[in-house]
Amino acid sequence: MSPVDPRNTERFLAPYRVEPGRRIRLPRDFDPGDTGDLVAKEDAKERLADGVKLLAEYQERLAAQDRWSLLVILQAMDAAGKDGTIRHVMSGVNPQGVEVSSFKAPSTAELDHDYLWRTTLRLPARGMIGIFNRSYYEEVLVVRVHPELLGAQRLPDARPGPALWKRRYREINDFERRLTDNGTRIVKLFLNVSRDEQRRRFLERIEKPEKHWKFSAADIRERRHWDAYQEAYADAISATSTAEAPWHVIPADHKWYARLVAAAAIVDALRTIDPRFPTVSEEARAAQLAARDELLAEG
Ligand code: ATP
Ligand code: MG
Repeated sequence: MSPVDPRNTERFLAPYRVEPGRRIRLPRDFDPGDTGDLVAKEDAKERLADGVKLLAEYQERLAAQDRWSLLVILQAMDAAGKDGTIRHVMSGVNPQGVEVSSFKAPSTAELDHDYLWRTTLRLPARGMIGIFNRSYYEEVLVVRVHPELLGAQRLPDARPGPALWKRRYREINDFERRLTDNGTRIVKLFLNVSRDEQRRRFLERIEKPEKHWKFSAADIRERRHWDAYQEAYADAISATSTAEAPWHVIPADHKWYARLVAAAAIVDALRTIDPRFPTVSEEARAAQLAARDELLAEG
């Protein structure tokens, strides 16, 4: 069974999909080291290649149909492999059909608007695939772990605390609901790396000269808040996994497996859209045939 075959994706993803209403705990409920039925990287290679090819075909039809867009939201702790996942999973897709947006700490101009503004500007148009490398979810993750960030947002009522996070979960659910109703399918992926594996990857970045640029002092500072982040992730995922936009908690200690699950989740979303090439009207077809006659007559 190939996990990226659209006939299998739903079953393959079931252990990683958070059902609406389920209250998850991290790290208790999901094993970052899980590799399903697969044992080694080699087992995933061909399957991932199949998935990449399939995504390219789906993207072509999505663009031609021009009715739906696809929004992929990637969230994770540092060094969980967001960048590599985007690079590998989207490697076969026509670059004109995909837009990747990375969201870092907000600028002054962004802080002059509400927290859903900057991401709204980057939403995919019909026919497009948009990938958010981090997203408005940071507003209930990093901002919850560091509530002092709220000061710069100048909200009329911003006392940090459960009521504020709950309000934001509701606003996010409403926002995603509106997007879905109007033709944007949303896929949400949390790359679930373990604390040990993050340590190993940080050390590797510090040891290897070609990886030095990937490590910053902020990384070790945020790591000190590991438990607070896990709790914030668990709460946010529990509150915002909805029928129209469910979360997937993807085991990320083995990059090859994480990429396969991510590919399967994106294939599965496209399967539910089932984009088709538009058919032309009888009139347009008659015009095409007349054009053919004219072209043939030239020869
Ligand atoms: P990488 O480290 O792989 O290059 P990254 O996504 O971690 O990618 P960084 O520039 O290291 O990029 O970090 C971006 C930082 O911006 C993260 O620490 C994230 O929490 C922070 N950030 C993102 N959105 C917000 C937000 N709305 N408010 C405050 N901080 C945010
Ligand atoms: Mg970083």
